[in-house]
Amino acid sequence: MKIIRSVQMMMKEVANVNKKIGFVPTMGFLHAGHLSLVKEAKQENDIVVMSIFVNPLQFGPNEDFERYPRDEQQDAKVAEQHGVDILFLPTVDDMYPDELGIKMTINQGTDVLCGRSRPGHFDGVITVLTKLFHIVQPNHAYFGLKDAQQFAVVNTLVTQLDFPVQIVGLPTIREGDGLAKSSRNVYLSKIERKEAKSLYLGLKLGQKLIVDGIKNPATIIKEVKKFISINSSGKIDYIELLSFPNLKSITTINQQVILAVAVNFSNARLIDNVILNEEGSFIDRIS
Ligand code: AMP
Repeated sequence: MKIIRSVQMMMKEVANVNKKIGFVPTMGFLHAGHLSLVKEAKQENDIVVMSIFVNPLQFGPNEDFERYPRDEQQDAKVAEQHGVDILFLPTVDDMYPDELGIKMTINQGTDVLCGRSRPGHFDGVITVLTKLFHIVQPNHAYFGLKDAQQFAVVNTLVTQLDFPVQIVGLPTIREGDGLAKSSRNVYLSKIERKEAKSLYLGLKLGQKLIVDGIKNPATIIKEVKKFISINSSGKIDYIELLSFPNLKSITTINQQVILAVAVNFSNARLIDNVILNEEGSFIDRIS
């Protein structure tokens, strides 16, 4: 595995490569969720590039940029073991050498869910991905549907601005008790870790209600909220049921939907979701 730290070197590397490039952008502290994206990328491309970059632009002033977990050595080892060909580890100074004189803003699908709770977050996401797509020039880029709003936003970016990349959304990888794998899980206390499974259990309860024929989003949200608040000490930021991928509010379930939740624990904000068809069956891959 080649490790590249400079933007210029990375651009040089892919300039005349003539191979299909699969790209997995991450913020590191790798876990099985990230590695599932690598596995898929390996099957569909000639080479796999993974980036690890904790992007300051997508963190708000009171968020966890400084204490976001980092372990470069371990990540490099794991990436190599899982067949990553190029690990791109740019520095903040190399990615943003000057104060940005361009501001990218995404308005579609960002007035809900994390977009509402984290103003500017998705502007930071589309800015860094625009840069990374230009630098890496992938044929395919792989994203986890755990961050479903991010997937929807990236979909808008690449389709509306004609990026020559195909994006692929892949299933959420979970711990044995259902908790979605996340780099931030290390910041849960022992008790919170036990409670955290209630996010997914709550979502599954909502899913079952849809399977049972409940069509009213408000009824489902009420039940999921009740379940999560009884079973966890975390503070619910949102529970929403929206159309997917256009993330519009709906009054009845008659199309593909997302049921999504965000909960603030004492030192970690966790998100999770399920994407369901009209009948309540799980959708876990989008390409
Ligand atoms: P992050 O490092 O958290 O920015 O995540 C990098 C990529 O991995 C994003 O596309 C995430 O959606 C994806 N990802 C993170 N956690 C999971 C998970 N539990 N299952 C599948 N994909 C994930």
